[in-house]
Amino acid sequence: MLAPGGTIGIIGGGQLGAMFAAAARRMGYRLWTLDPDPEAPCAAAADGHITAPFGDTRALDRLAAETDLVTYEFENIPAAAVEYLERAGRPVFPGSLALRTAQDRLLEKEFLRAAGIPAAPYAEVRDEAGLRTAVAAVGFPAVLKTARGGYDGKGQCVVRDPASAEAAFRRLLRAGGALVLEKFVRFEKELSVICARNAAGETAVFPAAENAHRDGILHLSTVPAGITPAAEAALAAIARSLAQRLSLAGTLCVEAFLLPDGALLVNELAPRPHNSGHYTLDACETSQFEQHLRAVCGLPLGSTRLRSPAAMVNILGTGEGDVLTGAEEALKESSVKLHLYGKREARAGRKMGHLTALGGSAAAACRRALAARAKLAWSPTGRSAAGTARKIAAHGEI
Ligand code: AMP
Repeated sequence: MLAPGGTIGIIGGGQLGAMFAAAARRMGYRLWTLDPDPEAPCAAAADGHITAPFGDTRALDRLAAETDLVTYEFENIPAAAVEYLERAGRPVFPGSLALRTAQDRLLEKEFLRAAGIPAAPYAEVRDEAGLRTAVAAVGFPAVLKTARGGYDGKGQCVVRDPASAEAAFRRLLRAGGALVLEKFVRFEKELSVICARNAAGETAVFPAAENAHRDGILHLSTVPAGITPAAEAALAAIARSLAQRLSLAGTLCVEAFLLPDGALLVNELAPRPHNSGHYTLDACETSQFEQHLRAVCGLPLGSTRLRSPAAMVNILGTGEGDVLTGAEEALKESSVKLHLYGKREARAGRKMGHLTALGGSAAAACRRALAARAKLAWSPTGRSAAGTARKIAAHGEI
């Protein structure tokens, strides 16, 4: 067990790390981060930041020397970095098994199959002949995905006929590595659930969220998900059993499709707090970040009770400017909570923040969240016109 007062290292310095750091600080922990970006959102919240590639062994040695245990905030870090720390006998949670499994769709699907958990029918694709065999086995429509490195809808393409499958194959193959052809699932709802497990084997599951995506990126999460108690229990049971099989100490997000007949197909696993669990910050007795902290430190897990129906909507950059306007209007509804991640450039599609609204029902929370989101816009100047002008002047553009 790592008691409050101890020091935690985080590989990856994005917003997930920053929200984890806030929870850890509140409970008296110290933090070090490792990220190639010296201005990563989490770096400002840490006691120490190491600017280096994730796989840099000298940087990992330093991180280990400065901290009592290490965790990671997203799964696109090299599993070799986590294995390096494990070989050196350093505590690192969740371990490399969860990371390796989640960062490769083929390993993930084999893992699900071995666990007896249903997923969409799929076939591995390594070359053009393999594509034809996969198409014959899976049929159209289908989704062609890179096995590794894809996130937020990147590295995947819906294909409806042989010509579009071949075009997608040529495009995705450029990323290198194997591809997966997956049957296109006509789901009723997309769901996710977050399960925490500590080293003692205690588990706790948050209420499932119903998720809506835009262009493959999470747009809106609504809780309760509006599913039957049986579906909610089945999804929670799947998450618990997968966390158990991964010997996880930490949090595991399980994304799943709910079919019209009530069956669940697991789509993806992430061994970390997840965007679809951000609602827990404002709507649950324990946030997913505090729960991750408790789980990796070996503390008892907190209550996952939902205090109120809630909806979370993401705030993405648009490329139209870096100043967010309209917050005064959005916050007029008193249940709305705004979270901004401190990223300077609001590039198109970049996750800049989110907002959460509470309500008497999931539908009411959803309406509030979307109404508040509609008040926000990105502007090159906005109310901070002077600051933006200074920034432009500093870059020598005016
Ligand atoms: P993923 O990166 O696998 O989570 O996919 C991103 C999003 O694409 C999912 O949340 C779904 O909305 C959609 N998607 C992915 N795979 C499938 C599939 N096999 N059938 C239908 N939609 C899918």
